[in-house]
Amino acid sequence: MQTKMLIGGAQEAGTETEEQVLNPRTGKLILAMPEADLDQVNRAVAAARAAFPGWARTAPGERSAKLLALADAIEARAEEFAKLESLNCGKPINEVLNEEVPAVVDCFRFFAGAVRNMQGPVAGEYMAGHTSMIRRDPIGVVASIAPWNYPMMMMAWKLAPALAGGNTVVMKPSEQTPLTALLMAEIIAGLFPEGVVNVIVGQGASVGNALINHPEVDMVSITGDVATGKKVLQAASKSVKRTHLELGGKAPVIVMDDADLGRVVEGLRAFGYYNAGQDCTAACRIYAGPKIYDNLVADLTGAVSSIVFDNADDTLNEIPPLISQRQRDRVASFVQRASELKHIEITTGGELAGGSGFYYQPTVVAGALQSDEIVQREVFGPVVSVTRFDDADTAVAWANDSQYGLASSVWTGDIGRALDISARLQYGCTWVNTHFMLVNEMPHGGLKQSGYGKDLSMYALEDYTVARHVMIAH
Ligand code: NAD
Repeated sequence: MQTKMLIGGAQEAGTETEEQVLNPRTGKLILAMPEADLDQVNRAVAAARAAFPGWARTAPGERSAKLLALADAIEARAEEFAKLESLNCGKPINEVLNEEVPAVVDCFRFFAGAVRNMQGPVAGEYMAGHTSMIRRDPIGVVASIAPWNYPMMMMAWKLAPALAGGNTVVMKPSEQTPLTALLMAEIIAGLFPEGVVNVIVGQGASVGNALINHPEVDMVSITGDVATGKKVLQAASKSVKRTHLELGGKAPVIVMDDADLGRVVEGLRAFGYYNAGQDCTAACRIYAGPKIYDNLVADLTGAVSSIVFDNADDTLNEIPPLISQRQRDRVASFVQRASELKHIEITTGGELAGGSGFYYQPTVVAGALQSDEIVQREVFGPVVSVTRFDDADTAVAWANDSQYGLASSVWTGDIGRALDISARLQYGCTWVNTHFMLVNEMPHGGLKQSGYGKDLSMYALEDYTVARHVMIAH
């Protein structure tokens, strides 16, 4: 297993710590996590700084070629990546191989193309005797900090637009899930010029904190918890760093009475529980119309109870365990508190499962009220709440009554109503009669405490570059 970090073009071991990287399916140790010391953090940032002027001046076509080569190399080793991600996150191997690795490869390919095709206002004489033009230039050294729920994918979402835009990067994966990042680091070492990409491992409080406070870091891009995002903002205020924050979510799902029930249930079974709900866009907060509510709860309960999650034959599993015992216990405590409320019924699930692994049963919490904790707070587990509403205005008001603003969906047979509700929802994304679908061409990012800054699409390339005005007097 590749455990070396990448600093200034050289692969280096970190210091072994007591922090353990565990297999969530068994709870067993994979390895003691290596951590970068302060000298290694500083050298990684210095290497990125030294590499910046050269990389920033490469032609887009040259950067594009490197990204395409990286995509090809990952694709060629897809099984190896899938096995490693599956081992580290407990994800079903087929999900990683068929969904996540191709999405990672496509992300690098998308930005390889996008950077050669950036658009902007035309150059012209906007003042007599002066010609103006817009440049989009890189920002500098980007510290990219990723969470544990999609380690490879988050690395691709952060690296691809930053590198395409001409920035250099110090990447820190989550301390819980560093394995695929380290494998990607090995490939990057053979492809990119020294220092353009550096990959270091360590805990948020030590390595992450050193990065976000580093005076030579120009921009911090982080996907993680709201509380962590706030720390990034505090640190950034000291030197006015740019920030790109992808924080939590609590996606509302409005199901109108005229929705296609079968399609809704199939969708919620898939999009509420994918990755065991450890997804900031998970369809976890259902608002159902008065006529469809009872059938929805009944059919969803049946569908969710059939989700396969702890089969010894992993190719049959549909969702993973939780990432850690801590996360599983956190999820269990949310459901426990909800179940103590008289108006709540746990119609399926609600228990730990699967022996020594960090499994929790896929769960439906019916009868939830808008003010309930299970409706208001992010659970980040295989738990979906269902709340009955009387009219569309109430559903929209409840959907918007959240500290989060990342993703949402509306399910209805009436396209006019779908468009009206979509326009009123305060979320970075609204799906109609589906949920969860992301494409590299379209932006992903939030409002409110879900953060700001877009991943994916040309909008991400804009976030990782700065628009500059050059004016020439005649
Ligand atoms: P986390 O905030 O604990 O950790 C995320 C990353 O930040 C890790 O690499 C961690 O080491 C680092 N970090 C932690 N404290 C830090 C500090 N003080 N300074 C610098 N870095 C620090 O989050 P997590 O537990 O890894 O991930 C789960 C959370 O991420 C959930 O709340 C989820 O909603 C959110 N998330 C959001 C998105 C999105 O696109 N909006 C995607 C995935 C996950």
